[in-house]
Amino acid sequence: MDKINLATLLLGSLLVFSSIHKPQLYQVISSHPHDVKEFSPFIKTIKQDGRLWLVNLKKNTPSHVMKNFRLTTGRGVKSYMPIVLKSSVVSPIIKDFTSRIDVAAIKNDVEMLSNYKTRLVGSSDNQKAIAQVKQILTSLGYSISQYCYRPDACSIVADKVGDGSSADDVIMLMGHVDSVGKNFAGADDNASGVAVLLEVARVLKDFNSKKTLRFFITNGEESGLFGAEHYADLLTKNGEIKKMVLAINMDMVGYNSNGIVELETDSQYEGLAQWFSQLTGAYTSLKTKITIGAWGSDHVPFIHANVPTLLTIENWSTKTPCYHMECDKPSTINYNYAAEIAKLNLAAMMTKDAE
Ligand SMILES: [Zn+2]
Repeated sequence: MDKINLATLLLGSLLVFSSIHKPQLYQVISSHPHDVKEFSPFIKTIKQDGRLWLVNLKKNTPSHVMKNFRLTTGRGVKSYMPIVLKSSVVSPIIKDFTSRIDVAAIKNDVEMLSNYKTRLVGSSDNQKAIAQVKQILTSLGYSISQYCYRPDACSIVADKVGDGSSADDVIMLMGHVDSVGKNFAGADDNASGVAVLLEVARVLKDFNSKKTLRFFITNGEESGLFGAEHYADLLTKNGEIKKMVLAINMDMVGYNSNGIVELETDSQYEGLAQWFSQLTGAYTSLKTKITIGAWGSDHVPFIHANVPTLLTIENWSTKTPCYHMECDKPSTINYNYAAEIAKLNLAAMMTKDAE
């Protein structure tokens, strides 16, 4: 073998070797403090921005920590701040409804839900919290259904049927009522989401929608998205999932220092996230960050069921320091920020209704 052929062979082997041993890219799909502590020694962070966290794993990563990661090529996952036009097309009717969002009512409901000793799914206090939310939505005139994936683990669906030929189309707003079970806590995660949902329901009870408006209070999210999975499965089996034209999830919408709301979905609904960004410019004082690569909350089962679905959540890079801790109390909540997210999701529901 001459020198040139030998060099070619060596170079070729090197290229094959390096392509085989190129470290694989994973997306981190858990932020639970316990998980993060456990997997931290095995990761090399490639990119971390908001909800998007991409890593390489060390060779000796134990199999039991692999549940925290999803293999990705890096294509189709991204995080960026979109250009938001200060829209000149602002509907005066929608603007009027967003102006009715009451910061004090959101505060009141966050405190009400945080006053239960625990909202851990299955506990008696969780069931009392669900009963209280059900009572509020009933008193607003919504028609209520209850879906239980276990006798002690129920979610609530509250509907206002549309008035017109598009009443079959459903626009849904959701948030989980359960907490991880710390005492008198879970204010941000996720009393904030439920309180905003109740306030949007209060304001929209007076809106004569063409489509059906649905409010879904999920349960068992912290144990594995059980309530949302159960309901999405049921709608898939009975065919009603096809009626859902938009689903919005709210999970942790109360802690903020920078005025950014993160909008998360999968790549097929990136256009939906960009549409939300434009609404944010038109109806709120917030900035948006779009994250593509959905994980870890109740929007996921609906995305998997092909419903155009989005998560609205506080900016994950600056999320509450009390995440899943006993210090997740009402005093840490920025109620004006939560009210802006209420305005955004209300505007999205009304704009979708007009289509
Ligand atoms: Zn949550």
